[in-house]
Amino acid sequence: MKFTTSNIITSSAKAPDTSILIIYTGGTLGMVHNDKGSLIPFDFASIMDHIPSLRKLELNITVLSFDNPIDSSNVNPGHWELLGQMIYENYSEYDGFVVLHGTDTMAFTASAISFMLENLSKPVIFTGAQLPISAPRSDARENLITSLEIASTKINGKPMVPEVAIYFDSVLLRGNRSKKVESVHFDAFESEN
Ligand code: ASP
Repeated sequence: MKFTTSNIITSSAKAPDTSILIIYTGGTLGMVHNDKGSLIPFDFASIMDHIPSLRKLELNITVLSFDNPIDSSNVNPGHWELLGQMIYENYSEYDGFVVLHGTDTMAFTASAISFMLENLSKPVIFTGAQLPISAPRSDARENLITSLEIASTKINGKPMVPEVAIYFDSVLLRGNRSKKVESVHFDAFESEN
């Protein structure tokens, strides 16, 4: 699997103390419309142009994006293993992790990763979007900004959410307790019972 790496410092005022690794596996969130109206993968190096309010978060962000984004209906256990390995290998370098994933099988991947990463003490927040990041009223912006906030927030020096979770449309759910319930409206995930 090949990746493109982009390094983004969201604060211009001072060097941020918090580092977050974003892994873009595929899915609607990281897509943009080209001049002909077709969807093509987004270049995460230009993320500040699409979400200027990220400047307020003061983060040192690294994005690893799959060069061939995977529609999540094609994600298999080999991809879960790869993702688990990527988080494991980068674990000490970052304060938190945000995984951008297609919504169709996000709950399955989040669940598998939650069982792989034993003794986790840092946030691994999965999110995605119902509309591409280039769409005027895309949910990608809010879902990504809040996931970054959750992945980077600490209380008394300790991560506030040290577990694998899905954040989507103002709802934060345990990764292994979530289900996709909606393919059109923004409120796509819930936790039964
Ligand atoms: N089919 C896409 C996927 O699951 C839809 C999405 O991104 O939500 O990868």
